[in-house]
Amino acid sequence: MASPTLLMRVVASAYSVAEKAATIVRKVMAGGDLGIVEKSGANDLQTKADRLVQMSICASLTRKFPKATIIGEEELPPEEVNEELIEDGYCEEILKKTCPAQYTGIKEEELVIWVDPLDGTKEYTEGLLDHVTVLIGIAYGGKAIAGVINQPYYNYEAGADAVLGRTIWGVLGIGAFGFQLTEVPAGKHIIVTTRSHGSTLVNDCISALNPDSVIRVGGAGNKIIQLIEGKASAYVFASPGCKKWDTCAPEAILHAVG
Ligand code: AMP
Ligand code: MG
Ligand code: MG
Repeated sequence: MASPTLLMRVVASAYSVAEKAATIVRKVMAGGDLGIVEKSGANDLQTKADRLVQMSICASLTRKFPKATIIGEEELPPEEVNEELIEDGYCEEILKKTCPAQYTGIKEEELVIWVDPLDGTKEYTEGLLDHVTVLIGIAYGGKAIAGVINQPYYNYEAGADAVLGRTIWGVLGIGAFGFQLTEVPAGKHIIVTTRSHGSTLVNDCISALNPDSVIRVGGAGNKIIQLIEGKASAYVFASPGCKKWDTCAPEAILHAVG
């Protein structure tokens, strides 16, 4: 077999790095001290988990792919990253997949990696743990082409025997994996939207669409999971607020499923 291309190595590494990130998210919560800081206001928070996970992801990916542009949500002071935060594994299953022909020649310096270390921070601080995701999106030529979404608390209400957490990944031209693709029940129009960044405009826009029902949950990553798992037919959020670290991985996975 030919050796894996750069893109497949980046995605395989992002998968392992996101799994490490999930362990950090769970460990900070279990430790009990979230170290909450308000950024622009009470609905725009940062916790110790946001900080540690961004350090872990960005330092781990930079070590392997020093010429790629890696952009994380959090503004952090330059700091030596503890070796314990570094993940150097690759997901073997991803390395075995064939890279789509149009991406085989990508150079490291042509990739932009968008990192949301913890999406749904407000919900994390409120104990709505399954709303939380870790997002690593990969863009090339200004387009989201691959992404990893880790949901650290997937299954957390399913009982002690259930495996906690999961990692969803996708590449345009290969598909998306780690979940069961499901359609919304026929004829149902279900909208998923924000629960903590609502406004009159956001609500008026949803009303105008006359949906059968509305699901209000936190996180851009979590809302895309509602779409691919057939819980909602559209994600509607008529407002500024989401940034490229929120949208890159979800957008790539949505396109990868078709
Ligand atoms: P939400 O759907 O409200 O959970 O938002 C999805 C993502 O976009 C989260 O990462 C939020 O932090 C971000 N976001 C959306 N709207 C805003 C806003 N008004 N201020 C700050 N962040 C926002
Ligand atoms: Mg976010
Ligand atoms: Mg975030």
